[in-house]
Amino acid sequence: MKALVYQGPGEKVWTEKDKPGIEKPTDVIVKVTKTTICGTDLHILKGDVPAVTPGRTLGHEGVGIVEAVGSAVQNFKPGDAVLMSCVTSCGKCANCKRQLYAHCSDGGWILGHKIDGTQAEYVRIPHGDNSLYPIPAGADEEALVMLSDIMPTGLEIGVQYGNVKPGDTIAIIGAGPVGMSVLLTAQFYSPGRIIMVDMDPARLELAKEFGATDTIHVGSEDAIAKIMEMTGGLGVDVAIEAVGVPATFDICQKIVSAGGNIANVGVHGTSVELHIEDLWIKNINISMGLVSTNTTPMLLKTLGTGKVNPGRLVTHRFKLDEIIEAYEVFGNAAREKAMKIILTA
Ligand code: ZN
Ligand code: ZN
Repeated sequence: MKALVYQGPGEKVWTEKDKPGIEKPTDVIVKVTKTTICGTDLHILKGDVPAVTPGRTLGHEGVGIVEAVGSAVQNFKPGDAVLMSCVTSCGKCANCKRQLYAHCSDGGWILGHKIDGTQAEYVRIPHGDNSLYPIPAGADEEALVMLSDIMPTGLEIGVQYGNVKPGDTIAIIGAGPVGMSVLLTAQFYSPGRIIMVDMDPARLELAKEFGATDTIHVGSEDAIAKIMEMTGGLGVDVAIEAVGVPATFDICQKIVSAGGNIANVGVHGTSVELHIEDLWIKNINISMGLVSTNTTPMLLKTLGTGKVNPGRLVTHRFKLDEIIEAYEVFGNAAREKAMKIILTA
């Protein structure tokens, strides 16, 4: 089979590789029908994630058809259409028992990280019963791919950890795929005002279509001054960081209101300066973490009702074997006006 293989910082190749087989009785082998590229894959290619070693197949999102199941798999059989979660979970360990699947003792984020991932014709999914979801009949497969990672990440780490409530004023710093997922899922909780902050005017336009009430273009406007002016000097109830650099975290600590929340969603590679001398007196909370995907069943239900359509995040489509070209487009997202890319086998 063919797979997109990491070969060290800056190096990747679409190449022939052995088809995965059942290694443990709980494994499921999935024939990938649709997958995508995540910002995290770009981080890996930069060499930011040293746990990923040369030879690893990348990718942790996608949908597919069950090809084979191990002897202990009960919920799936060959031919079943499945959604693959970016997080693998056994469902039995102490952390899984409290739905903290991100920290499963035999799973967590391992796909395209510690084991071969989904940017391939076939992938082995450990603990298939707990890590796969049946695809409802008639579901939009492109929208479903957004449920592998970015939608649960936006909902759990941005909206739920940030405790977004009806009527709140919230600010989302970063209008990339995960920031947009925060924007879409925050609306389940009816915040009064959603301020989207980004450097890319095209992404801010899209954010307005997706429900942002206000947008701030960093570069032509001072985001902190503007938000303080917009909120009468109070700041926002929830400041959500969806980039992963010190400058955007700093905006969040400057705009959070007394009693508010800073929810960090971004993946950080360097330390940030925490202004505890200003924040200690403000009764705020700061949260962060890795998605557990415990909200995936709920998101699947909302998809069915049409309450939210994450398929709108898809801007580009390629064949799976055009993945090198797709990486080129996703890696130059501003120039290409790219949000999410769907790769179809
Ligand atoms: Zn991802
Ligand atoms: Zn577990």
